Amino acid sequence: MRKILVAGNWKMNGSKAMVNSLLDGLLEGSRDERNVDMAVFPPFPYLAEVQKKLEGSEIAWGGQTVNPQEKGAHTGEVAASMLLDFACRYVLVGHSERRSIYGESDEDVAKRFAAALEAGLEPVLCVGETLEEREGGITESVVGRQLDAVLERSGVKSFENAIVAYEPVWAIGTGKTASPEQAQAVHAFIRDKFAALDAIIAGQLRILYGGSVNGSNAADLFAREDIDGGLVGGASLKAEDFLAIRNAVD
Ligand code: PEP
Repeated sequence: MRKILVAGNWKMNGSKAMVNSLLDGLLEGSRDERNVDMAVFPPFPYLAEVQKKLEGSEIAWGGQTVNPQEKGAHTGEVAASMLLDFACRYVLVGHSERRSIYGESDEDVAKRFAAALEAGLEPVLCVGETLEEREGGITESVVGRQLDAVLERSGVKSFENAIVAYEPVWAIGTGKTASPEQAQAVHAFIRDKFAALDAIIAGQLRILYGGSVNGSNAADLFAREDIDGGLVGGASLKAEDFLAIRNAVD
C-alpha cells in the first residue's frame, strides 16, 4: 500500500513566530505511528528556521517553486541548489497560482520539473482544470496536456522520484472540495495514463488531491483507491487543523 503523504503549502503566509509555534505543534502532535508522511512548504525566507526545527524529525520540507536555471540574472527566483542548501526534499512545481498569476506555461513547468529532478529534489507536479474547463467537459484533456509536457521532456521514469498533485483550480482556497468520486475519477485517469507507459511506476506513483481539504473531508478522500494523500493550503496553517487531516489517515 502506498504511504499517504499530507503536504502543507503555506503559500505567502507566516512570520518567524508563527512558523515556530506551528512547527512545535506539528512535532508534538505527530509522535504516534501512522501510515502517513508529512511535509511542509514554507515561504523561502523561513527555510532555515524550518530546517533547524525539523531536522531529525519525520516531517520533511520543500520549496514552493524552483527556477530552471542554475544561477544568474533571475531576480526574485531561487535555484534548486539553494533549496538543497536548506536540505529540502521536495519542491512544488506548476502550482495553479504559479500558472495563473505568474504565467508559467506547461513548457516552463516542465523545465522546472526537469531542473528539480536533475538536482536531486523530488518534484510535486501540480495539475488541474479551471471551473470553465470542467464545465466544458475537458478536464481530462487539460490534465493530460499538463502531464504530457513533463512526460515528453523528462520521461515516465522520472516519476520514480516525483509526485503528482491533482488540484482542481475551482477547489483551491474556495471551500468547494471536489467530491471523493470526482477526485477519484481524475486520479484514476492520471494513474491509467502512467500505466499505459509503465505499469510499475504507475503502481508506485503517489497522486495527491488538493483543494479545500480539511479534517472533515480528508478521510473520505484518502479512502479512495487512487488518492494517496493531500496537498493542503489553508488548513496547513494551524497545527490542529493540519494534524486533523493527518489523523484522518487510518
Ligand atoms: C493549495 O494551495 O495547493 C491548496 C490546495 O489550497 P487549499 O487547501 O486552501 O484549497
